[in-house]
Amino acid sequence: MNEELRDLYQDVIIEHSKRPRNNRALEAPANSAQGYNPLCGDQVKIYVRMDDGKVADVAFEGAGCAISTASASVMTETLKGMSADEAEALFTSFHDLVTGAAGPDDEDLGKLAVFGGVSEFPARVKCATLCWHTLRAAIAGQEDPVTTE
Ligand code: ZN
Repeated sequence: MNEELRDLYQDVIIEHSKRPRNNRALEAPANSAQGYNPLCGDQVKIYVRMDDGKVADVAFEGAGCAISTASASVMTETLKGMSADEAEALFTSFHDLVTGAAGPDDEDLGKLAVFGGVSEFPARVKCATLCWHTLRAAIAGQEDPVTTE
């Protein structure tokens, strides 16, 4: 990744961590799930409302590092209108990106590509993926808290 692109991506992450989008609770009826990354101390609660098999609304609350907050913010921006299967496929692409299994040129990733730099910091992968694991639990209606360990 060239330096200019890296700086741009970092700016987007910092901006989202400072002013996260969809940082609120959803009123019922909505599914929710709690996630925890003990390695870093990130906590997140994801709310999702499915309508006709698609994500009608998605939001989050939580306290965590810049990466976990920005990841939840960008995730909630990208999911609306997707089916559970589409969200799952996007999670797979995102996971490949942050673990370094795939480059940031995957067109399906859209704005999520800004997290490509995370692959250079393996300890931060769980910060970036916590919200996605928690989203999966929320869509499935899973009651038990999600932990990355
Ligand atoms: Zn973190």
